[in-house]
Amino acid sequence: MSELMKVADIFGEDVFNDTIMQERLPKKIYKDLKRTIEEGKELDLATADVIAHEMKEWAIEKGATHYTHWFQPLTGVTAEKHDSFISAPLASGKVLMSFSGKELIKGEPDASSFPSGGLRATFEARGYTAWDCTSPAFVRHDAAGATLCIPTAFCSYTGAALDQKTPLLRSMEAINTQSLRLLRLFGNTTSKKVTPSVGPEQEYFLVDAEKFRQRKDLIYTGRTLFGAMPPKGQELDDHYFGTIRQRIAGFMKDVNHELWKVGVTSKTQHNEVAPAQHELAPIYAQANVAVDHNQLIMQTLKRVACQHGMKCLLHEKPFAGVNGSGKHNNWSLTTDDGKNLLDPGKTPHENIQFLLVLTCILKAVDEHADLLRESAADPGNDHRLGANEAPPAIISVFLGEQLEDVLEQLISTGEATHSLKGGKLETGVRTLPDLAKDATDRNRTSPFAFTGNKFEFRMVGSRDSVAGPNVVLNTIVAEAFAQACDYIEECGDFEKAVHDLIKKYAVEHQRIVFNGNGYSDEWVEEAARRGLPNIKSMVEAIPALTTEKSVAMFEKFRVFTRAELESRAEIKFENYSKAVNIEARTMIDMASKQFVPAVIKYTKELADTVLAVKAAGVDASVQSDLLAEISGLLVEMKKALSALIEVTDKAAVMEEGEAQARFYHAEVVPAMEALRAPVDKLEMIVDKEAWPMPSYGDLIFEV
Ligand code: ADP
Ligand code: MG
Repeated sequence: MSELMKVADIFGEDVFNDTIMQERLPKKIYKDLKRTIEEGKELDLATADVIAHEMKEWAIEKGATHYTHWFQPLTGVTAEKHDSFISAPLASGKVLMSFSGKELIKGEPDASSFPSGGLRATFEARGYTAWDCTSPAFVRHDAAGATLCIPTAFCSYTGAALDQKTPLLRSMEAINTQSLRLLRLFGNTTSKKVTPSVGPEQEYFLVDAEKFRQRKDLIYTGRTLFGAMPPKGQELDDHYFGTIRQRIAGFMKDVNHELWKVGVTSKTQHNEVAPAQHELAPIYAQANVAVDHNQLIMQTLKRVACQHGMKCLLHEKPFAGVNGSGKHNNWSLTTDDGKNLLDPGKTPHENIQFLLVLTCILKAVDEHADLLRESAADPGNDHRLGANEAPPAIISVFLGEQLEDVLEQLISTGEATHSLKGGKLETGVRTLPDLAKDATDRNRTSPFAFTGNKFEFRMVGSRDSVAGPNVVLNTIVAEAFAQACDYIEECGDFEKAVHDLIKKYAVEHQRIVFNGNGYSDEWVEEAARRGLPNIKSMVEAIPALTTEKSVAMFEKFRVFTRAELESRAEIKFENYSKAVNIEARTMIDMASKQFVPAVIKYTKELADTVLAVKAAGVDASVQSDLLAEISGLLVEMKKALSALIEVTDKAAVMEEGEAQARFYHAEVVPAMEALRAPVDKLEMIVDKEAWPMPSYGDLIFEV
């Protein structure tokens, strides 16, 4: 890489983007494809053949030998199967490079080994991947050479969604339809499409690869299962936005370079709160592209870290006692002609539309708080949400002083006549005040915060796909818009209807608004008084997927069928059980083979020392006290280990499903904590030389 890399030159150089398509595709074909991308018109095979040919030629020029349908099954990571471009040998013994329209549009990976939650019996192995042409194809360079990656959706033989992408695209369709309906009622005749815009901020940790390899917990589970706090943690706040160390800076530079080449708008990078924690944020993009790009970001962070002798930890809580990692999901709605529905706007007319949009969102979030919470649930996030660390597991909305004031006026008098800091505004009877952007401070403790012209959903886990949360957001807001439109259309008097709805929603759903400190104990009590759900764990969150309320909504907007929701719930319970099982087994392995032997060896040395010191006729009380303390903890460790083995064995033979997941949560997780406690105490008093693995201090302060 040249030292002076020109960002503008390399940006998107490995993407089959609009410029390339315009250059390489015949005019008519380009137009047809654009129509498919913009209006969802079906692509015919002849057109696809031409596109495939050009895509292949372009990819081969970039050095590609293979292509892959790149998809996102319900494993949380992406999947791919590579096919080379070569065709059957000719009589001459040579091969041609071929890639047909059919191969571009549709793939048939064997689906039997991907989670389907009972949607597809194993003998019905067929699964289909279908090109999502609204997310551009790209060439990826890695040790395998260069591969043409085609973003796809993944469905079963019967069309049931087996992936993250399909429901996301369906939910984008739903929010598009209902938003356009709403805009038309407000007199907008020009916008043709409304798309959710998503900007996910990615947090991660970096540790030294050599030290990583000495910790089985990191290798098998991505987090530390044992580890005492170092003398210094994050209390000085000296890491957040601190100077980026050279080793990390070199890593970030390469990450950016790799991401820019594949068209990911890596924009912001900084140190995060915890030592060894960092963040990367791209510029927001339409939801499905943002989801794909976030996957690319996570993969690139991991790959480049390895090249720099480090390991990137994407786990939500790699270290107890220091901040965990999340993925703030910034979300707004944008029209094809550049209007943001979440922009408060400048004129009363825009304001009233904004206030309806806003109160619809409040209603949506209040009515489906359980679904939003569920969308952020994964085994790792259980250590952040509802645990000692924020954001709390209670969904609430932060509006800021100014908007909350407007809301209060609406509730008390039925109309808002002024806005804070903006002074008195001229208002007609039913007009609403102008709203200045950024008239209020940020609130970092809110799980769902309005930040000027977008909402920031802060619960999402760092390792998770952002598809799930956006499926929920798009659908619940589509539902609220649909209900509002039904009412307005029915009512006849537009102004009155809108005014009534804003007031009604503000009154009925003000309980979800909370501007105070979301991390405080008082809030937990206050939220309970307000009747807001506080769902503390993944196993308690999953049932939200299959309530009658949820099924009715998702079916109405054709995002999920009941069967798809049930399968997802099943997969999540299984994933939870599997994740905890792996963690428990890893703890058992580490305790049995590393900690117990290391401590036994150390007590023997201590015992010898005690004897030697006594023989010398001097005071051996320090040595013998230490020996007694360590031996006591060793006994405690061994007991806890046996208990953990017992419950884990019991859990493992249970039938897969909800009961098993609940058992893991209720019995195995506490047994893991019980084993960890004596081990962490031992780590604090056993000679560092005798401890069998790098400590927290070694891991997070010496990267
Ligand atoms: P913060 O101060 O919370 O980090 P930033 O302004 O840096 O906020 O933005 C964080 C993310 O939000 C970025 O990915 C950014 O592109 C994205 N973002 C900004 N505006 C919007 C919007 N209107 N809709 C969706 N995402 C947005
Ligand atoms: Mg940020």
